[in-house]
Amino acid sequence: MSLPKVPLAGVIGSPIAQSKSPQVHGHWLKTYGIAGHYIPMDVASQDLEDVIRMLPRMGFVGANITIPHKEAVLGIADLVTDRAILIGAANTLIFRKDGKIHADNTDGYGFIENLKAGAPDWDPRSGPAAVFGAGGAARAVIASLLDAGVPEIMLSNRTRVRADKLKSDFGSRLRIYDWVQAGNMLDHAHLVVNTTSLGMLGKGEMRVPLDGLRANAIVTDLVYTPLKTRLLETAEQMGCVTVDGLGMLLHQAVPGFERWFGKRPEVDRTTRAAALR
Ligand code: NAP
Repeated sequence: MSLPKVPLAGVIGSPIAQSKSPQVHGHWLKTYGIAGHYIPMDVASQDLEDVIRMLPRMGFVGANITIPHKEAVLGIADLVTDRAILIGAANTLIFRKDGKIHADNTDGYGFIENLKAGAPDWDPRSGPAAVFGAGGAARAVIASLLDAGVPEIMLSNRTRVRADKLKSDFGSRLRIYDWVQAGNMLDHAHLVVNTTSLGMLGKGEMRVPLDGLRANAIVTDLVYTPLKTRLLETAEQMGCVTVDGLGMLLHQAVPGFERWFGKRPEVDRTTRAAALR
């Protein structure tokens, strides 16, 4: 008599000790009584492909991919979703029964679900959004905002050419502002998103003047250490609805967990608590 196989999943990055994903997935496995494991894996770039190809043979059903491998993994996967191609990065791998490695990007999904949960009255079509930053996370955020129907995205990044590249990739609904004029985007913005690392513990503070923020704007920050960044604190004082970045991390994990372990998990207070432990 053979015992049933215990499904394995995990997160691959370098470094990996800071990742909250093992706590989140571990919490869900326990909550739903699923006999599975989710493991952090510190993998160097030169070993990435060997490790990924080995994992299915060891009982892995999939993996999350984080910094610095999110771009490189596109060249390893056999099938890549259109949105991962558009974003230029993947964060979720599914090891299919036919041996093929399927890569997707769920960051944009996590971003939108977090917004919907934290600002249920948000109507994407109501007006323009302002986005700070043009790195990897910004690409996922912009793709998802355009998909949701936001009519215009004002975008500003310290390094202007990176913002210009996003405009050439994502098209005419983007309008680029110089970094020194980033504050000018706020007068019209119904939604404001920080996708830079500014405001994160140990990084610099956001210096963009915020006095132009509309009182009824929704303001969200991808940074979640601290949970309440100075941007969110200021926005709250100005009467805006604020949404912290932790929920994005939790929601982006949902599709992977469902595909690997066969249960769509809830993002609730206990999930947040597990991530913060
Ligand atoms: P990235 O590709 O390295 O991009 C970093 C961004 O921050 C760039 O736009 C960069 O501008 C800007 N930046 C960094 N230092 C700056 C400074 N001193 N002044 C002005 N701009 C500065 O990183 P990423 O993957 O996009 O991640 C960005 C942030 O989002 C990180 O804090 C990350 O932890 C967070 N994040 C959160 C979630 C979530 O689930 N909540 C998901 C993904 C990412 P330049 O182009 O000029 O360098």
